[in-house]
Amino acid sequence: MISGATLLERADALAAITETPPALTRSYLTPEHRRASELVLGWMREAGMSAALDPAGNCAGRYEGTKPGLPCLMLGSHLDTVRDAGKYDGILGVLAAIACVEALNRAGERLPFAIEVLGFGDEEGVRFGGTLIGSRAVAGDFDPALLELRDAAGVSLAEAYRAFGLDPARIPALARKRGDLLAYVELHIEQGPRLESEGLPVGVVTAIAGFTRLQVEIAGTAGHAGTVPMAGRRDALAAAAECVLAVERRGSAAGLVATVGKIEAAPGAINVIPGTCRFTVDMRSADDALRESAVAALTDDFRAIAARRGVEIAIRGTQSSKAATCAPWLMDQIGAAIEAEGIRQFRLMSGAGHDGMAMTRIADIGMLFVRCARGISHNPAEAITAADAEIGARALLRFIRAFKPKGEPR
Ligand SMILES: [Zn+2]
Repeated sequence: MISGATLLERADALAAITETPPALTRSYLTPEHRRASELVLGWMREAGMSAALDPAGNCAGRYEGTKPGLPCLMLGSHLDTVRDAGKYDGILGVLAAIACVEALNRAGERLPFAIEVLGFGDEEGVRFGGTLIGSRAVAGDFDPALLELRDAAGVSLAEAYRAFGLDPARIPALARKRGDLLAYVELHIEQGPRLESEGLPVGVVTAIAGFTRLQVEIAGTAGHAGTVPMAGRRDALAAAAECVLAVERRGSAAGLVATVGKIEAAPGAINVIPGTCRFTVDMRSADDALRESAVAALTDDFRAIAARRGVEIAIRGTQSSKAATCAPWLMDQIGAAIEAEGIRQFRLMSGAGHDGMAMTRIADIGMLFVRCARGISHNPAEAITAADAEIGARALLRFIRAFKPKGEPR
């Protein structure tokens, strides 16, 4: 019933709708977002759903259960992309959910709950910088201050909604309350190499990592690279280099990852000792307490390095997010569906953020990952096989058919 080839064809059709051909970029509230939404809404209707754009620009489809108005199992992911993106990040989860409903509809099956499929308009935050705008709106966490965000051309989010034909005043009414949803479940490509190394097409996600982001600035003394003796230099970049190694060391502890992704030294000349250096830190873990203690230890490392080298250091937390834990009862049901497909159940953490982070505000969440080649994503080289896409969607369909809301006997 479910065809992996069709899933990939539909992903290709969506990938052709781009702001930057031949590269794929599709950001929030653009003409490309509209065209992609029309395609997706059409597929939703063909699959037997009522479907429309909601006031936050999400594609929202609903397939009623045995009687109208039942609480829903919500499935979803995002339809926006990063710049020069791959074809499957987010998209696959929406397409797989639609394919599941299509299979139920073709078989004339109605379940004792409704199914809603959400194709969120903004997860990546490329255009306006605020991430998860689509799912936060549905989860009742849309901050009206976001409307003042501006894109690179100076267009505010509020103006972009109006230009798209949406009334931002209607967004708060989108908010679902805890208890409205039986659960939120998302299929997504792994974006990492673990399923591939396990030789498995799909896996059960345990949690979405929380993160801490720091901006660090070191001030030393610039000077002539030829005349200032090595002893007594206050080289900001050399101090930062030691800090980078401390990040790597702290991030190598079990349950953590940490990265310095950006570093700039000034004045930035071959014959000048760097006087200042700025760098970023991104540390993630599924365990919030572990992450917080590692960040504290790292901050101590930084201060010790700066003191020993006689440089000034300023450490600023720019962003942080708590880990989103997948509900054990959903992990069990997703795992059982995977095993029923004849596949060993494997559980793994998500190092990347997902819409489920926003949805934990109103519902228990579950996720399943589909293997992607070499763990590459946010890159046009992102690749999956039709066979894996099909297994993922089939496991999702099995999960839906067997789904028992929390507390009901299985
Ligand atoms: Zn994604």
